[in-house]
Amino acid sequence: MHVFEKLSKSLSAKAARRLHLSLWERIITRLNSFASDCEKCGQYRDQVRHSFQDLVNASGGERELSKAMINANQRLKNEIVGHLHHGHGLVVEGYYIATCLPLGVLFGFALGLLVFKNIALWMPLGPAIGAIIGAVRGAYAKSKGLTI
Ligand SMILES: [Zn+2]
Repeated sequence: MHVFEKLSKSLSAKAARRLHLSLWERIITRLNSFASDCEKCGQYRDQVRHSFQDLVNASGGERELSKAMINANQRLKNEIVGHLHHGHGLVVEGYYIATCLPLGVLFGFALGLLVFKNIALWMPLGPAIGAIIGAVRGAYAKSKGLTI
């Protein structure tokens, strides 16, 4: 995508990180591969092109991108990530750790308090187990090519 490359060249490293350009790059690759079969992905691809065109227009010279523009871009990204997840079974890297860790905290707390009556042991153990399960599930998803 031409506008995307133009933007990534014109932005500072810090701004590129704020926009998560490396994730965007992977998202765009996915959208391109699904667009011929999925109408929604085709529409998102157009929206992405417009969003980045706006950012390119706004980032001329030394001017920093406004917070509102970055937020709009992030909202679009989250929406697309949601569609890639529910519509195509893909997850972003770290997704399973982010979902399993809080569950681990919860289970550690519940097990330690109610079942084993040993909160000092289970409070740290729960999240550790959650993180391991998340890492394993994430590695499995990646090995199947299901990570964005
Ligand atoms: Zn799709």
